[in-house]
Amino acid sequence: MTGRRSVDEALRAARARIAPEDALPLLLHVLGRSHGWLYAHGDAPLADADAARFDALVARREAGEPVAYLVGRRGFWTLDLAVTPDTLIPRPETELLVEQALARIPPGAATRVADLGTGSGAIALAIASERPQARVVATDRSAAALAVAGANARALGLGKVEFREGDWFAPLAGECFDLIASNPPYIVAGDPHLGRGDLRHEPAAALASGRDGLDAIREIVAAAPAHLVAGGWLLLEHGWDQGVAVGGLLAAAGFAEVATVADLEGRDRVTLGRRGGAGEPAC
Ligand code: GLN
Repeated sequence: MTGRRSVDEALRAARARIAPEDALPLLLHVLGRSHGWLYAHGDAPLADADAARFDALVARREAGEPVAYLVGRRGFWTLDLAVTPDTLIPRPETELLVEQALARIPPGAATRVADLGTGSGAIALAIASERPQARVVATDRSAAALAVAGANARALGLGKVEFREGDWFAPLAGECFDLIASNPPYIVAGDPHLGRGDLRHEPAAALASGRDGLDAIREIVAAAPAHLVAGGWLLLEHGWDQGVAVGGLLAAAGFAEVATVADLEGRDRVTLGRRGGAGEPAC
């Protein structure tokens, strides 16, 4: 009797401590193995060093750290992205923003696309992966986030995507785009959700934005027309109860074809609009 547990036994024990679906990715991360390997080798003994590392990760998860930060990865769209506590963890609902953007970027055209507040690069890289001819530029105020985004781009063979440091449009002075997308912070400052679950561990500046959560969106909507060609699109992710307010901001800024789209859960999630021909400066 070595006293060593099998990987299956270790997994079962962990599932009694943390959410059952969280235990498997932590164990696979420690083992550096695939799910398929585990199916075939569940009775393999777990080496002492691996058991200690797994136990430490389970304890950190018990204390509330997000699985994505513990394993340093999160899937988004078709991409496997590195994430760190310097970046927001990409959410499945943000894939709606990518879908809506792709519907407005013709394949094969040299469409100019900007992603504002790119974090891990999720939106910019998903678009670039689907539209190789598009010229994608992404900005973020956080140099640490851009380091992660740049590494993701290189790892995915999407090194063509340009990353620039600065607030929203600051690094894009004088540049015009056919489509601008952003998942900016939109939670109301002081919202109790910020103190719960994964959100406690994510960068506050990527989550909360003023008394009504719309400070960043107001800033982006105000500056966007000067960076959009006539007929160019602005697409914004927002909270489930902000569709009407964001649509109102877009209409007031002169955008046409303003529409709000619901995510798979049926919640308003993305609002978009199209720049008309009028207005200065023209792109
Ligand atoms: N969708 C995130 C959440 O509510 C917030 C992300 C954001 O503010 N852009 O957990």
